[in-house]
Order: sequence, then structure tokens, then C-alpha cells
Amino acid sequence: MSTETLEFQAETKRVLDLVVNSIYTNKEIFLRELISNASDALDKLHFESLTNQEILDGNENFEIFVIPDEESKTITISDTGIGMTRDEVIANIGTIAKSGTRAFLDKINDTKDSLKEELIGQFGVGFYSAFIVSEKVELTTKKAGETSAVKWTSEGAGEYTIEEFEKESRGTTIILHLKPEFCGDGDFKFTNQHVIEGLIKKYSDYIRYPIKMNFESKDENDKTVIEIRTVNSMKPLWTRNKADIKPEEYDEFFRHQFHEWEKPMEIFHSKIEGTVEYTALLCIPKRAASNLFFADYEPGLQLYSRHVFVMDKCKDFLPDHFRFIKGLVDSPDLPLNVSREILQQSHDVKKIGRSLEKNILKQLSKMLKNDREHYEEFWAQFGKSLKIGVYNNSYDEQVKKDLQDLLLFTTSKDLKLSTLAEYVERMPETQKKIYCATGKDAASIAKLPQLELLRERNIEVIYLIDPVDEFAINALVSYDNKEIQSVNREDFDLDEDDAKKKTELEELSRSYEELLMDVKAAIGEAVNEVRLTSRLKSGAVCLVTGANGPSLNMEQTFSPMNNPFFKAHKILELNPNHTLFRKLSSLHALDKNADAFKDFCQLLYAQALLIEGILPENPADIASKIATLMMK
Ligand code: ADP
Repeated sequence: MSTETLEFQAETKRVLDLVVNSIYTNKEIFLRELISNASDALDKLHFESLTNQEILDGNENFEIFVIPDEESKTITISDTGIGMTRDEVIANIGTIAKSGTRAFLDKINDTKDSLKEELIGQFGVGFYSAFIVSEKVELTTKKAGETSAVKWTSEGAGEYTIEEFEKESRGTTIILHLKPEFCGDGDFKFTNQHVIEGLIKKYSDYIRYPIKMNFESKDENDKTVIEIRTVNSMKPLWTRNKADIKPEEYDEFFRHQFHEWEKPMEIFHSKIEGTVEYTALLCIPKRAASNLFFADYEPGLQLYSRHVFVMDKCKDFLPDHFRFIKGLVDSPDLPLNVSREILQQSHDVKKIGRSLEKNILKQLSKMLKNDREHYEEFWAQFGKSLKIGVYNNSYDEQVKKDLQDLLLFTTSKDLKLSTLAEYVERMPETQKKIYCATGKDAASIAKLPQLELLRERNIEVIYLIDPVDEFAINALVSYDNKEIQSVNREDFDLDEDDAKKKTELEELSRSYEELLMDVKAAIGEAVNEVRLTSRLKSGAVCLVTGANGPSLNMEQTFSPMNNPFFKAHKILELNPNHTLFRKLSSLHALDKNADAFKDFCQLLYAQALLIEGILPENPADIASKIATLMMK
């Protein structure tokens, strides 16, 4: 095969330009990116060799070499990893085949310069960082188990060449021909042995394969000898003493290990020696993954046994509401060769899982107590996950108990976030229930006619704004022995103990029985019941739902799926003290079959819907009825 010149895919070229031109400060990151790729290639080979020993072809060396050379102004990074075939080189290096590239390009354009560098690792453009410091990059590679090798060369300017090559052993070797400013002596001179050694120690110390360098020294006869030394400690970070680990080391580790690009929000590093023994290093990422609640998100922790990698994405440790937690568990109690099925049954896994869960709960409540601002940042990213947890565990009192004090809700008091405990703490003695109201935002809830009386009596109300809020609150049922009462439900009555008021309303309802029946008939199937109410003050109508069953909000959430299970039992309530009610009543008396009466009924219902932020089914009809009325 002769030398072929190929062009970078257009998007690749743009990414390349961006990477090279956006890195101002940390020019040195190229080294950790290339070492990280080498380490991944060794992982892949290691994994493959577990089932196919022959792939190693007798060469059991798993190592990385880094060789800076002053004379040729190069730095060479080579590994004995899996290597690549010609097609793989073209696919992996010449193209950015990942769907994330577009997102990367969009994102990097509106990212602050200081954060651009962090973006680079996340989107798998790590290899291109070689061009930050190089005027030319040569990559030779031989795939494990193959006989032929290839050489790829590029100056990072639009094209690359690819040709056949003689390479003795498997793996990849990358030669960076450094730009002149990166050669010589000084902090950013990458031909300098000490600079490189320092960078490896700083960024890649925990890499679990030896990173070797050549060191020159003189023997007793003053002859130059070359000694090969491993520069990294290879000690997995989590096995080290917590007190000796610098925050940067944790951050770097998470970036590499979990392909995160921002520093984690919180890190929990724990060593437990009890009935089960384990070390766990968990983190809450800075941001919720955009697919956190979608099927393609794979939760789970990495599993190690005596520091040896066993499996990724092990879902059996943590409950689903902690799906956002990333991290690893290393336990000598778990066997190396274990299938996912066995793991699911394992008592040790269950014990470790419970212990991890308790620890996370403890850390979260500590954060809530000691650093509210930080907790609210956490809540903004992952609160939904905890709320879904409460809902999904409606029948599990323990889970609800664990989570209920971690929940935050906006309340009518200054529209700030509040825990249920804080709400209860503020309740006046006379208030027996916890009140909540649902709506699409705080402003529309505040305008609900049902809230008028509560406001008048200075009763604080929890605002359920996020669609899952209501699901969580419904699942809780009560808190601290106080019933949680929705003002959007039929059983909401501030004066439920006032027997006199009740009897009055009952009597009034009886006397208007026929009217109420005819209103229902005029509106049709859209509502299930029409009633009089005493919960309204200046409002004429409101829409509530049955005491149990789906709410209006739930129906709205699920209506695109037309899920009959989520049909709300709708009750239109009329305020008998309102002028509109008197008008309704006189229209009814005049001619209950006339359009004037029927239209009036429909307009009342449309109003009730609009107050709830719901568009009537036939908006054009309603608009024309309003117009007719206005012209009268
Ligand atoms: P990422 O490592 O995030 O996937 P890179 O641009 O660094 O992105 O690398 C692209 C791909 O090239 C890798 O996913 C891998 O398949 C391949 N690759 C890079 N370096 C090596 C290497 N040293 N050995 C084998 N394959 C490699």
C-alpha cells in the first residue's frame, strides 16, 4: 500500500482548530490526554485477554513509555495496548464519529475561555490536544493479533497521510514533533526530562499501568548508563489515605475515570471495615446529565475487587433515585469472576449498597444543614431524582422517611425553598394541616381563587411547580403526623370543623339542585360534577379534583400519552355569593334550554380551566362566545 493522503472530516477540522486555539494556559494537558488514551488501550487489551489469552501473543507487558528527546525535539508516547487497524485509525482519529461533536462545537463557542479546556476531555477530542504543542504528529500502530501496522502523519492542517508500516510489537506509538517554543529548558519545555516526570506525577500518578521513562546516569567509570524507571506510583487513588489526597488529585481522577469534564460537586471517600469491608469513592457530578431520566442513561458504579477492575455500571449498589452518583466500590469480599446475575443475589452487595446509601443520605443531610447554598445547587440539579424516588417508593415507608427531609419546595413565604420541617416549624398552633397548591409557576398559583382565603388567614402554602412535586407530595400523604392537603382537591375546607357553615351550604345546594344539574348537562362530559362551594371569596368559579386519584396536573402531564389511568375526576365549583352566580340563576329561570344559559355555563367552565392554566378544548368557540357577550 502506498501513502494515501486523506482529508479530515470538516467537523473534525473545526474541532481541531478550536482545541489548538482555545488552550491558552494548560498547554501541558496533551500529555495526560495521550497517557489516558494509552491507559484505555491497555484496559481494552486486558479485558480482551481475559477471554482470549492468545491475543497477547506471549507478550504480557502492559506499559506506557514516555520519551522526551532534546535533540530531535520530540516527545514519544508509546503503549503496548490494543492498537488500531487502518480502518480504526481513519475512523477514530480522522473523523469524529460521535454524535456529541455538534453539541461540542455549539457548546464550546459559548463557553468561557477558562472552561474550554475542560470541555475538551469530555467530548473525546483528547487526541487532538497533541497539536497544541506539535507542528507534526506521527502515530504508528499495530492492532493486537494482527500482522500489519500503519503510520498516520498530520500537521493538523486539514489533511493527514496514512501508509503501511513495519512495527514489531502491538500497540501505539505517538511521536510529537514539538513546536520550537516547547523545546529546551523551562516549565513549558516538553523535551525536558524533569518537566515531563513532574507532569506524569501530577496528572497521571494513579494510572494503573507503569509509565516508564529513561533516565541517564553515570556509572562508577563515568560511563553514561540508561536506567528505565516507573514514574507513577500506580497506587489507585482510593487506596490512599484521605488526608494525603489533594483536591486536584480527586478532580483529575474523576475526570479520567468517569469522563467528567467539570470538577465534581461533592466527593465521598469512605473506607469501611465491619461485617463487609469496602472502600468507596463516590461523587455527585457538578451537573445532571441531560439524559439522566432517559433510557439511554446508564447508572451504576464501577466494581473492583482487591484493586482489580471487575465491571462497570453495576446497578445493584444504589437505589434508582441515586442514579446520578458516579463512583467505584472496591471490596475484597467480592469475587473477581462474577456475573451480573450473581451480583444481584449477593448479600455482600446488598450490605455494601445499604451502607453506601446510608452514607449518601447522611452526607446530603449534612450538606443541607451546614451549607444551604451548596445544597440548593445540588437540589437544582438532582432534586427531581429524589422526588421521583419518593413517588416510586410510595409503599416503602423507609425510603420515604429517608428522603422526606431532603426535599425542598417553594412556598408562599417569600417564594423561597423550604424543607417540610421548616414549613411545619413556622405553622401557627391553630393550623393542623400542611397546605399545598399546584400550578405551572408561582405566579399562576398565587392567583388561584382557592388561595384567597388562605392568604387572608396568613396560612403558608407549599407551591408544587415542578410536575413531579405533586407526585412526591401525594406519595408522602403526611409529614410529622400532619396531613398534607392540596387546595386543588375537593376535600380542602379550611372550616371543616364549622358545622353551621356546612349545613348552610348543604341546604343551599339542595335548593339549587336542578340548576346544578342543568349546568352539568350544559357543559357535558368534560366535568364530572358541579357543586356550590364556600371556599371562594371574590372568585366566581374554581376547578378541583376528587380527594384521591389523579390531579389536574397529572392529567395534563400524561395527556400527550392519552393515558386513561391519569384521568382526573373534575369538579366545577361555583361561588353562590358571586354576582355571576346570580346571573346564572336568573338565566336558568328565564329559559334553561336557551343558548344564553348554555353559553354562560360553558364560559364559566372555560374560566375555571384558564385559571388552572389549561386551554379549553375549543378555544375558538369560547372566544366567539366571549365576543358575543361583550357586544351585548
Ligand atoms: P477519546 O479517548 O475520548 O475517545 P480521543 O480523540 O482521545 O477521544 O481518541 C479517539 C479514539 O482513538 C479513542 O476512542 C480510541 O479508540 C482511539 N485511540 C486513541 N489513542 C489510542 C491509543 N493509544 N491506542 C489505541 N487507540 C487509541
